[in-house]
Amino acid sequence: MKRRLAILGSTGSIGTQALEVVSEHPELFDVYAITGNNQVDLLINQARQFMPEIVVVANERKYPELKEALEDLPIKVWAGIDAIVQVVQMEPVDMVLTAMVGYAGLRPTIAAIRAGKAIALANKETLVVAGDLITALAAQYKVPVIPVDSEHSAIFQCLVGESENKVEKILLTASGGPFRTYSKENLERATKNDALKHPNWTMGAKITIDSASMMNKGFEMIEAKWLFGLLPEQIQIVVHPQSVVHSMVQFVDGAVMAQLGIPDMKLPISYAFSYPKRLFSKLPRLNFKQYSSLTFEEPDLDRFRNLAFAFDAVHKGGNMPCVLNAANEVVVSAFLQDKIGFLKMSDIIEQVMGKVTFILSPTYEDYVVTDFETRKITEELI
Ligand code: MG
Repeated sequence: MKRRLAILGSTGSIGTQALEVVSEHPELFDVYAITGNNQVDLLINQARQFMPEIVVVANERKYPELKEALEDLPIKVWAGIDAIVQVVQMEPVDMVLTAMVGYAGLRPTIAAIRAGKAIALANKETLVVAGDLITALAAQYKVPVIPVDSEHSAIFQCLVGESENKVEKILLTASGGPFRTYSKENLERATKNDALKHPNWTMGAKITIDSASMMNKGFEMIEAKWLFGLLPEQIQIVVHPQSVVHSMVQFVDGAVMAQLGIPDMKLPISYAFSYPKRLFSKLPRLNFKQYSSLTFEEPDLDRFRNLAFAFDAVHKGGNMPCVLNAANEVVVSAFLQDKIGFLKMSDIIEQVMGKVTFILSPTYEDYVVTDFETRKITEELI
């Protein structure tokens, strides 16, 4: 029996690599549905190649173009966010890969869990915004949530067979991004093009900026807390510029397990799709001769204030991580449009975190309101 996949965000960086994994193992996987936001041309090509049952474009204005291009094929063409929420619940779907960007991932992920679908989680913002809701729902519906984020996949892999053993802490590795060695003055002047040049990983624009500002690592700390049921104090961020050690787990006896590999997302994607099995991969193997040293250093919370904000948000709890995420989405978008400078992003996030109404035990509706309110306040400060 092939595993039938719904791939949300199929035109993004993770989505396209997920389809490469599928095309290397056509005997194991079947693409039931693909969804994209805007990139209709790529959606059309993917639909012709993988022949899914359903293709959804989130932007409804793009519907006529997509519909017309696929008219000769027996593929259902839908549009809009509600259609994405519907597609994840379709009976034949076995697993949903959530690879869309940002807060938009929350609703479809909740719908997929309620429908009992296994989740390959690539949308970390879902756990940042509403980790409490998602974790409780996944437990209630007995749905596995398998991380695709490389660090979390590493931790997940280190924990295989260790269910009876207590984790003392995890060591979440960070490349440090393109600005690891920048002074504050250099950060002040850093441009969009500087920030988009990540040394090790090729990713979408939003996550590349988040990596440069280290907000990505702050989010990953929150993501790890929920995925592995840890206290924030049990998560140590370690800067490791070579991106070879993808993360580590330290157990109560002091043993540290690490997962290593070349920086390529196809490995964690493939593992999430095939877990608990490993699939043959044609990826280049890690060649230790290429790395005369692997180095590790402390993150600098003074230059990368977003890391400190993430710890603040998770300690305060409630809707504060949701505020952090929404403010970040707005400032990153403003930075990408050259409206604000690099360090200004953190300044604004800090102000917003002090302004939004705090809710200690938010419901889903509270998160929706918080996201809306935060975006408005952030826009006003830009
Ligand atoms: Mg990551």
